[in-house]
Amino acid sequence: MIRGVESGRCGPEGVTEAACERFFDLAPDMLCVCGADGYFKRVNPAFHQMLGIDPNEFLKHSIVEFVHPDDRAETIAELEQLSLGRSAIGFKNRYRCADGTYKWLSWRAILDPTEGLIYASAHDVTEQYEAHQRLQALATELSRSNAELEQFAYVASHDLQEPLRAVAGCVQLLQQRVGDLLDGRSKELIAHAVEGATRMQTLISDLLAYSRAGSGGRPNEGADPRAAAERAIAQLRSAIDESHAVVRCAPMPPARADFQQLVQLFQNLIGNAIKFRGAEPPQIDIGGETRDGHSVFWVRDNGIGIEKQYHNRIFGVFQRLHTRQEYPGTGIGLAICKRIVERNGGTIWIESDGAHGSTFFFTLDQGNKP
Ligand code: ADP
Repeated sequence: MIRGVESGRCGPEGVTEAACERFFDLAPDMLCVCGADGYFKRVNPAFHQMLGIDPNEFLKHSIVEFVHPDDRAETIAELEQLSLGRSAIGFKNRYRCADGTYKWLSWRAILDPTEGLIYASAHDVTEQYEAHQRLQALATELSRSNAELEQFAYVASHDLQEPLRAVAGCVQLLQQRVGDLLDGRSKELIAHAVEGATRMQTLISDLLAYSRAGSGGRPNEGADPRAAAERAIAQLRSAIDESHAVVRCAPMPPARADFQQLVQLFQNLIGNAIKFRGAEPPQIDIGGETRDGHSVFWVRDNGIGIEKQYHNRIFGVFQRLHTRQEYPGTGIGLAICKRIVERNGGTIWIESDGAHGSTFFFTLDQGNKP
């Protein structure tokens, strides 16, 4: 008997009580009927299969007695919702098995007010729950170690600047003071030391810039990408004039990003378009459009291009395809771009056949209009 625990037909016309009974016995989910006081009146065989407790044993207890003490108050509060008029409830709790261990169950329950009976079903979600918990613990651990690593990179690069400045300063002083008295080889060695120290200073300040690009939360506000691109162009004015570059800036969709970071992003990409120019003066086109609800931006140039096999590598920290003699730089610019874009929830990529210039694309959420 299921309905009302007393005999009677159940379900639509033609579905007999015997059929309902069969399903009751067959169901892999736990099914039960309880009185309004919460005491079990009937449980299906799945209760025994799932928890290992004799079905008759349940009839001596209320539904909450097997609930983990820490989940009991919440379960009672949920069940009370039924007597307060909620037609159906759903909740999760830990339920005790015969061996004293607990399983995570996901419950659905309804109250039939005329019969004063609670009908409830539950299925075992222990595996999903534990997998979810493991995933959450991993995510927490990952963001903790990530934050620690970021902090380490920041502190290390920040603190290294000071002694390095002292070394560079001393070597430079030495060069000025006794440079004339030294033989050719010694002068060469001192020049190497000065160059090495200066280069290390550049690398460290680049690392610091990379570290800073990853700090700060994700902004909720929209920034005006065109204004950011124009600011970047203004900051690159002398390089643009020297190279006789033509920079065209088309209208752009909105973007949710930090304005200063957006300026830096455009500055790095436009700066590269000028630096890695070909024989012709640079022609640089900046634009954007909406695709699938996101904003896609591009910086296109007619420069030396990048062969396909390097398209991923160039976004790595300190990854360069040329020597410093060919083109100056440390290889941090695109890594910073990637960090800024990813921090703002987007992706960045390049399209180039290695011969006819390059186009750098990046996506950003649209956010609210500035
Ligand atoms: P850097 O400019 O200091 O070398 P980046 O991280 O900005 O560092 O760029 C990494 C490498 O990607 C560059 O060394 C260059 O080989 C290549 N690259 C970047 N932008 C362009 C471009 N617009 N055209 C051709 N090559 C580029």
